[in-house]
Amino acid sequence: MFESISQKFSGIMRSLSGKSKISEKNVRDAVEEIKLALLDADVNLRVVRRFVNGTLDEALGEKVLSAVDPGQQFVKIVYDRMVALLGDPEGQKLSLRGPDVVTVILMMGLQGSGKTTTSAKLALRLKKEGRRPLLAAADLVRPAAIDQLQVLGSKVDVPVHVLPGASDPVKVAVDALARAKREQRDVLIIDTAGRMHLDDTLMTEIKKVRDAVKPDETLFVADAMTGQNAVSIAEEFEKRIGISGVILSKFDSDARGGAALSLRSVVGKPIKFIGVGEKPEDFEPFYPERMASRILG
Ligand code: GDP
Repeated sequence: MFESISQKFSGIMRSLSGKSKISEKNVRDAVEEIKLALLDADVNLRVVRRFVNGTLDEALGEKVLSAVDPGQQFVKIVYDRMVALLGDPEGQKLSLRGPDVVTVILMMGLQGSGKTTTSAKLALRLKKEGRRPLLAAADLVRPAAIDQLQVLGSKVDVPVHVLPGASDPVKVAVDALARAKREQRDVLIIDTAGRMHLDDTLMTEIKKVRDAVKPDETLFVADAMTGQNAVSIAEEFEKRIGISGVILSKFDSDARGGAALSLRSVVGKPIKFIGVGEKPEDFEPFYPERMASRILG
């Protein structure tokens, strides 16, 4: 993942980090290369512009050039800005309530984004942390979604709430919440329907579910491989439903990194987890520092 941008960034950083003296031209050239690397990675244009201008101002304005180790100083500026671009120290973690109250997590995303798989991955992770999750199959649009969630649920050994014959996702969600309370489950993960494209029916349906169960987390599952498209759809969900965070799926197959590097800045919400494969255990928290180090090499 991110092979190309990592290669470019580590090259740029290496060319400056060892230097005991760097000129304004060195800085300008390096920032220009950073700009090209970000654009090549399909990072949102506004985000690139902000990153590049900020880096340039800071590097030229803070007496970096006259410092004892100007190259290192420059690398630190880029690293800190990359961490800030990727993450939000306050919002990275899931907000989970105490074990005696059910935390409700609403999963949203387009069809094929990996929403159902991700719901099971999240359930497994929470189970490993000692929680007692319940999954709810409220995707009543894609015919195979209920079966798929049931198969995944038995794989990760988490019960799946299904209402046979139901056509109203609100009913499924409300019923699942009642069951979670009854059975002393402490997290309810609701898999909602996705569509191929954004449409009003989808939004209205999710809004109704949201209003009925008042989720603690509304997580948008974005397919990393769809780049800027994932970013604009996340933006739309944030505007119309409100999201508390993003889970970036198919991170393992994302060679470019455009979605990961743009989402936080454009949508204003953090990436909380990444999907790194098809198996239920292929799921990790998103660590901005680790990602920035990987990119800078
Ligand atoms: P949904 O329509 O949004 O519920 O999507 P699914 O959960 O059915 O996932 C669509 C496809 O993406 C399936 O083949 C999944 O195995 C695959 N998938 C989901 N998450 C990941 C991931 O993190 N990495 C990889 N490589 N594939 C994934």
